Amino acid sequence: MLNGAVLGFIHPALSDDLKPTAADWRIGTLLIAGGGVLFAANGVARVDLLVPIANGLLLFGVALYLRSIRRFARRADSRWIYLPAAVATALNAVFILIWPSIAIRVLIVSSAIMLYLVAMASVLFLHRRDEPSISSGVMITLCIAVIVLLIVRLAYYATAAPGVQSITATGNIVNALSPALILTLPIVGTTVLALLCFERMRSELHRVATTDALTELPNRRTIATRAAACFLTAKQFSQPFSVAVIDIDHFKRINDRYGHDAGDRVLRSVSSILRQHSRGEQLVGRQGGEEFVALLENANLADARSAAERLRAAVAAERHDVGERAETITISIGVASIHETDLSFDDLLRRADRALYAAKVAGRNRVSDA
Ligand code: GH3
Ligand code: MG
Ligand code: MG
Repeated sequence: MLNGAVLGFIHPALSDDLKPTAADWRIGTLLIAGGGVLFAANGVARVDLLVPIANGLLLFGVALYLRSIRRFARRADSRWIYLPAAVATALNAVFILIWPSIAIRVLIVSSAIMLYLVAMASVLFLHRRDEPSISSGVMITLCIAVIVLLIVRLAYYATAAPGVQSITATGNIVNALSPALILTLPIVGTTVLALLCFERMRSELHRVATTDALTELPNRRTIATRAAACFLTAKQFSQPFSVAVIDIDHFKRINDRYGHDAGDRVLRSVSSILRQHSRGEQLVGRQGGEEFVALLENANLADARSAAERLRAAVAAERHDVGERAETITISIGVASIHETDLSFDDLLRRADRALYAAKVAGRNRVSDA
């Protein structure tokens, strides 16, 4: 219950897209805690009425854990997820009120919980392709660990001598450990959930800080950081390194003729062509406005020229959607390669900028290295 309360306190600190995930986990935790209180009240009230309710709270709590994980993985909401909890709760009541059987009840409740745990682990496992994270691996491991413990517990009840077998017998080690098993998810799981949320927020912040919002290309800052590192490596190992500065031709006319939104669309489509046509050792980013920079590692001036020529041809070959019609767009590119005398990446960039200016003066839609 305290854990649920703590989740409630940190709720405002979470980003909006994670709040539903945390809210479901919190309600799940509180339901499981409520179930725990009822289990503990076993000795003071009529067991046969309390047990189905306690199990129901536990099962719906775990169902909400699954809903929380599904929300985290951006799965659509589904009412079906409550079905195993509802069926298991009803059967639980049947096997305490009509045909009392502890063994069957343990089997039913454990199976439903295991079903939810398998679902949680699977949802997270499939989500790892889109969003790999350390904490999702930990959560999957935790689910598997609890499944294994539940199976061991079931095997114990199935094989133990009839007298010891009773789930309410005291002095039975498995019975003594069962509450700890039930609390694994609310306690350890809540910590892991908090880390899942933390990891997502951290990677989201990283993405926002390093990519350009309009084009989703690396932004100026990312380019500068990468460029400085590439420059140092090239200097240190005397490797070739080139840069291409790319500028859309007469872009202002697109804005003037078709509006700013059409201009934005053209920026996105040119960006996507640049991204598609840049190879392994190339990084293309948006430097600002309608200007892009490509870092060409291990490329000498001739390599850089042909890489730039490929980009130019690819952009010119496409028709770009500007609203009511499609337009041909061209780019001009200035390339430069690292020199012995260069002291920093800026020296290289300055030469590429001069080359770009030359390409513009020479008539645009071309690559220049001087
Ligand atoms: P040149 O061929 O000489 O490069 O001509 P240009 O018209 O492309 O160059 P200029 O520098 O005159 O104009 C660039 C225009 O790019 C001006 C600015 O309004 C526009 N621009 C800059 N950033 C954005 C943006 O994010 N979206 C849109 N739609 N336009 C932008
Ligand atoms: Mg331009
Ligand atoms: Mg420009």
